[in-house]
Amino acid sequence: MVSFQDDVAVVTGGTRGIGRAVAMRLADGGATVIVTYHDDEEAAEQTTEMLAAYPAATRVEPCDVTNFNEVAAVFEMISDRYGSPTVLINNAGTMENGLLVRMTPEQWHNVIETNLSGAFYCTREAARLMLRNRGGRIVNVASVAAQRGWAGQVNYAASKAGLIGLTRAAARELGEKGIRVNAVAPGYTDTDLIENTTSYEDEVEDYTASGRLATPKEIADVIAFLASETASYVNGEVLRVDDGLLS
Ligand code: NDP
Repeated sequence: MVSFQDDVAVVTGGTRGIGRAVAMRLADGGATVIVTYHDDEEAAEQTTEMLAAYPAATRVEPCDVTNFNEVAAVFEMISDRYGSPTVLINNAGTMENGLLVRMTPEQWHNVIETNLSGAFYCTREAARLMLRNRGGRIVNVASVAAQRGWAGQVNYAASKAGLIGLTRAAARELGEKGIRVNAVAPGYTDTDLIENTTSYEDEVEDYTASGRLATPKEIADVIAFLASETASYVNGEVLRVDDGLLS
């Protein structure tokens, strides 16, 4: 298994779904793992208990990624207590579906702020610390929705397409400083997020090779690969993990 022994890793939205699976994978590899979440205290407590099973140092911390001051404070705390992060997984995300003509400005802004601005705030703060070490790995969790539009998701698709643009520009800017920036674009994954998404079952059955949803671990393993030194020559890439859904 790939080791993360000397890493300090930050996983945003790491208390449920894909983020939790990534946090466990990194902790299993020996990283010091700091997980952030928004407001689901029960999931945070469960995750704290799950991470305690690993010998690595772990911490679960509330931080609304849409609030720049909260993000800056968390990265300052991480830097003071654990040193500069070497890995950042921008995973925190939300979905508020609605037909374009009925979508409220609040629905638009909430999704863009969480999925795109939040990733920018965290990347900004992490990169400033990573630059001191001249090294780091950032993985952004985008979506196949960025590449193929689905009705009712203009806010979500735009946020994830924006995140891919951020990934490519940041990779170019930070690459020469030893910081790699990549993204994964998962297909439908078995988490709370898709509970309110309608009629994906037929699509998954017809267009994926396995005919089933991804497990969070299947996405987490690819994120861990991109966050590892095994992917040392991969930069500015968007890796689709969708079992052929968009092929
Ligand atoms: P979940 O809904 O299971 O988990 C979302 C996580 O993000 C939670 O920890 C949640 O915290 C956190 N979060 C949400 N809003 C904020 C915020 N404002 N500030 C900080 N944390 C926040 O989602 P998934 O695991 O399914 O999704 C993870 C990522 O993967 C997202 O970016 C999503 O868009 C992407 N993705 C998911 C797919 C899927 O099919 N599930 C497919 C493609 C991409 P809290 O628990 O406190 O609310």
